[in-house]
Amino acid sequence: MALGEFDLIQKYFTRPTPQAVLGVGDDCALLQPAAGMQWAISSDMLVEGRHFLSTVRPERLGHKALAVNLSDLAACGAKPVAFTLALALPRVDEAFLAGLAQGLFDLADAHGIGLVGGDTTAGPLNLCITVFGEVPPGQALRRDGARAGDALWVSHPLHGGLGDARLALEAFRGHVSLDGADFEAVRTAMEQPQPRVALGLGLRGLATAAIDVSDGLVGDLRHVLRRSGVGAEIGLADLPIGPVLARQPQQQQWQCCLAGGDDYELLFTAPPAAGAAVQAAAAAAGVGARCIGRLTAEPGLRLLDAQGRAVPLQLQGFDHFAAGA
Ligand code: ADP
Ligand code: MG
Repeated sequence: MALGEFDLIQKYFTRPTPQAVLGVGDDCALLQPAAGMQWAISSDMLVEGRHFLSTVRPERLGHKALAVNLSDLAACGAKPVAFTLALALPRVDEAFLAGLAQGLFDLADAHGIGLVGGDTTAGPLNLCITVFGEVPPGQALRRDGARAGDALWVSHPLHGGLGDARLALEAFRGHVSLDGADFEAVRTAMEQPQPRVALGLGLRGLATAAIDVSDGLVGDLRHVLRRSGVGAEIGLADLPIGPVLARQPQQQQWQCCLAGGDDYELLFTAPPAAGAAVQAAAAAAGVGARCIGRLTAEPGLRLLDAQGRAVPLQLQGFDHFAAGA
């Protein structure tokens, strides 16, 4: 390695960390939770070729590696405090490292959190971040609290919808063709997701269950339904679809929005009477929130058209879901 391991850590990954009692440079970081708080902890790994393409700019890779982790804290209603970074690098490429650190710390600074430790090794490009967040005991948003009769909500970009990241992937794979501006818009959605941390905090005490949409809306909803022991109905006409995806054929819209993945929006449930409070929490967080259906005592998931008729959609992963729910 041109730059030694410790010089590399010192140059790119060592910053002041007021969030920690002890940060980078010792065998362990020392963190002190605020009085009366519980830790919410989550890890997510990004592997080249599987979770990102080699064409991604390093700034965006740094952003996304942290964003997907912050999204898990958001889904629990936890306030981010600190994170660690385990990094495997095929070679020391200082331009790449500088970009990666820039994207990472820009998002970390936006959330006031510190990088308090990690590990660095040679190997195939791989980033694993662990985030630490705080939540008052009993207030974490969980997957097992949804009740029959609750409204089903999903957050979305103020002027967009779900499924754009998947549409970008399909464009990269050559399966769909998009013009330049449309491609850039959905590519940004794929490469620079915005974790809904403020919304997660605003949903404490309001949402009965929550999950972040990383594997696709229907697949992630399945986890909530199973853990909560309920079923759901979704109104297809109520799905938030952004302007670029809306120009695609109807089947493609549903496929990307319902089974796309990589959205990092919050899918959550709340009592029907909480609708105005949910909208207020979303507005305060600067995001959109759409009621897309409701929870039912009957298990399974039904997709309904505007007249309330069941629509038999062949979505990737959907049949498996119907059989297992
Ligand atoms: P050890 O050998 O005790 O595991 P290392 O030599 O791997 O420690 O790391 C030295 C210090 O640098 C530790 O405090 C570790 O947490 C930190 N560190 C290593 N890699 C990273 C990284 N990519 N980002 C932030 N801190 C790191
Ligand atoms: Mg080590």
